[in-house]
Amino acid sequence: MTDERNNDILPVKISGVTGPVTGWLDGHTILLGLFADPIRHSVSPTMHNNAFAKLGLNGAYLCFEIGPDRIGDAVSALRTLDMRGANVSMPNKQAIIPYLDKLDPAAEICGAVNTVVNEHGLLTGYTTDGTGWLRSLKEDGQDVKGKVMTLAGAGGAAIPIAVAAAMGGAREIRIFNIHDRNWEPAKEKVAAINEATSCVCSLNPMEDKEAFKQSIAESAIYCDATGVGMPPLDDMSLVEDPSWLHEDMVVSDTVYEPRETKLMRIARQAGVKHVYNGLGMVVGQGAEAFKLWTGQEMPVEYIKEIVA
Ligand code: NAD
Repeated sequence: MTDERNNDILPVKISGVTGPVTGWLDGHTILLGLFADPIRHSVSPTMHNNAFAKLGLNGAYLCFEIGPDRIGDAVSALRTLDMRGANVSMPNKQAIIPYLDKLDPAAEICGAVNTVVNEHGLLTGYTTDGTGWLRSLKEDGQDVKGKVMTLAGAGGAAIPIAVAAAMGGAREIRIFNIHDRNWEPAKEKVAAINEATSCVCSLNPMEDKEAFKQSIAESAIYCDATGVGMPPLDDMSLVEDPSWLHEDMVVSDTVYEPRETKLMRIARQAGVKHVYNGLGMVVGQGAEAFKLWTGQEMPVEYIKEIVA
């Protein structure tokens, strides 16, 4: 996609600045960024720049509209400018891999990267979508350890969640997906999860509604990572009615727009106490990346208030 903006610096609404800003955005500022397309509506700059400001860190996070055709150039620029790192989003999560020096084990299994860390010229690719999802559950006192989980979807959100849950000690993960372009690649990822962890992971046809329903009934965690629930499918839920769920389970939707999906409404009708939208995952993946770059914890409660 072509960026239709020109290079004019446009006015913005700034809140909270009460006087001259010194010691920030100066000769010592360390640059981070996001390489994605489309990009202009990303919440990542808001999250990271507010976290830098809150913690008094001299970092700046900017958005760069980059597609796969220019991702190699963007990585060269990252090296040349000695950026501390970058986030990578669609459509670059796989395309960036050949330009990096190494991958962490979770990114290796996923075959996708959303965070790059630059250690004195050595670029490592990580995936923080799954660890971010897990972190958001843990922050609310939930965990996957020893649990059975049903996961709907086998795409860019689902696979990192499966990998993080398996590495985090889940006993069993039953992935359900339709027979689409994700089916064959998902088979390979499931095999890699079974090879690398003690979790029993399986890929099952979503077309078998009875098996899907039965699996949810036997699970402590149900996560929908399909995008069903988001416009134009905002009037749809793969869980058809509250009787499919039980009160003491966790129900997690990766969708965050709208904040309350049809699945979440059904879960509340079923009396499920732990119901989450995808906002925790968004902030969680940012917090995991922030920690990799800075060694510090993002002030997540503060950031959640800003992006909620
Ligand atoms: P994707 O296209 O890579 O994968 C979507 C998966 O859902 C596919 O496996 C597909 O088979 C399945 N699917 C789609 N429609 C379906 C239907 N009608 N019935 C059954 N299965 C269906 O997409 P993705 O990148 O994995 O994103 C999925 C969702 O997760 C989106 O809503 C996206 O916004 C959200 N997401 C959230 C975060 C976050 O941080 N909260 C991060 C990434 C993605």
